[in-house]
Amino acid sequence: MTEWLIETVDLTKVYGDGAEIRALDGVSMQVGHGELVTVMGPSGSGKSTLLNLIGALDQPTSGRVIVNGHDLAALDDVDAFRAETVGFIFQLHNLLPTLTARENLEVPMMGHLESAERRIRSEELLRLVDLGDRMDHLPNQLSGGQRQRVAVARALANRPPLVLADEPTGSLDTQAGRSLMGLLKDLNATQGTTFLVVTHDLAVARQTSRVLVMEDGRIVREDHIGSPLEEDLKMWRHSELGERILEADGGTDTGLSLTKSQRAALQELLRSAEESR
Ligand code: ADP
Ligand code: MG
Repeated sequence: MTEWLIETVDLTKVYGDGAEIRALDGVSMQVGHGELVTVMGPSGSGKSTLLNLIGALDQPTSGRVIVNGHDLAALDDVDAFRAETVGFIFQLHNLLPTLTARENLEVPMMGHLESAERRIRSEELLRLVDLGDRMDHLPNQLSGGQRQRVAVARALANRPPLVLADEPTGSLDTQAGRSLMGLLKDLNATQGTTFLVVTHDLAVARQTSRVLVMEDGRIVREDHIGSPLEEDLKMWRHSELGERILEADGGTDTGLSLTKSQRAALQELLRSAEESR
């Protein structure tokens, strides 16, 4: 096993011949085995391009992508790589409308598993995403959130080490989006699957420990949520002193010589630590 599940080196993708568009402009990043990482950034910043290159759906103009020890430029069999190593989830679920949930899951297993095993595996996966009672429903008999859960289960069909999800919550309402992200977190924790998830939703991104922020084809920042400072603030919030500061108003003595505005600023900081729990 190599150190990283995903590694890109100076990855560049240029579209067009006349007025060229640098969709990716020298992206070097790594994702470890078992991580759940989100990618954020404005529309057009290169998020989908990055995922497509990592999933071998497209080829870079220059630079390298190494996934699970495979240098993608040197793949003998791209289809086999995709089937065995990467599951995809897109904004629109892309389920086949005339097939039931179970049959949709069996499609990617064809050529990999016998019919009886496909059935067992697809039922197991549908139970895993909490759709054990919807196996024989067609996509249009399911809610948007349920359809997206089928798409998640389908991405896991061949037990890939990596799942790439491009705005999987983009077509869902806030509640269904949070719930879907909760599912990805559970699968990450229980199945050990590595997830790289593009999202526009800060609340969704905050549920993950690492956020890569893209702008103009580059990763411009990396946020670690649940940083030591944030953890310290949470502890402080629940300490005796923290409680005293939060409860203090003009008349009470915090035991600290604070001006009114200092006290207000501290209170706000402590409250923000509480809210982000
Ligand atoms: P994001 O997913 O962050 O919205 P994309 O990766 O889809 O961004 O696109 C990055 C840039 O590359 C955009 O300027 C987009 O218009 C351009 N682009 C993406 N795909 C193509 C393509 N097939 N042909 C030409 N330009 C493209
Ligand atoms: Mg996109």
